[in-house]
Amino acid sequence: MPTSQNGYPALDSSTTGPLPRLRRWTIPGTHRHLLLRDGAVGFLLVFLASWFHGKIERLDLGVWDEWGWAARPIRGSSTISNHASGTAADLDATRHPLGVPTLDTFTPRQAKRIRRKLRYRFLGLIRWGGDYAGRPDAMHFEVVGSLRACERLARLLMKTRRGRRILAANPGARAVIKS
Ligand SMILES: [Zn+2]
Repeated sequence: MPTSQNGYPALDSSTTGPLPRLRRWTIPGTHRHLLLRDGAVGFLLVFLASWFHGKIERLDLGVWDEWGWAARPIRGSSTISNHASGTAADLDATRHPLGVPTLDTFTPRQAKRIRRKLRYRFLGLIRWGGDYAGRPDAMHFEVVGSLRACERLARLLMKTRRGRRILAANPGARAVIKS
């Protein structure tokens, strides 16, 4: 099975059938969803999207520019993008275009909060494209932790208020995270 850059298997567009597969994750408090890997990995990315929506900037203004799964190489490269494994999400993509310096579209305070959140809440399991050393990709967040580490964290975050809201909005997700 081909894998994306972070080692997770590339998935086809199916949301039914055996794991690993995709799930259409609703972001609570918005009328938007993200197509992401089912289970812990997708849960963590939706948890981040929900936090971002509440604390950084709203996701549901303007055009729909939240993107999850896509079968594509990294733009300008032959490596399979983490979007192909459903382990990456783009948030407010039209406001934070690829290649535009992170601090052109986020305030220093917002950038600091995002970094702090990823380090302390997500234990470094999610990486921000806004911190890429080369071409910045400030819309982009991707899972870089192992499945085991993601499962461990997801089981903790499931019990928080935000986690419970996400699970309530996504029937069936809890069972996959616990399986
Ligand atoms: Zn992306």
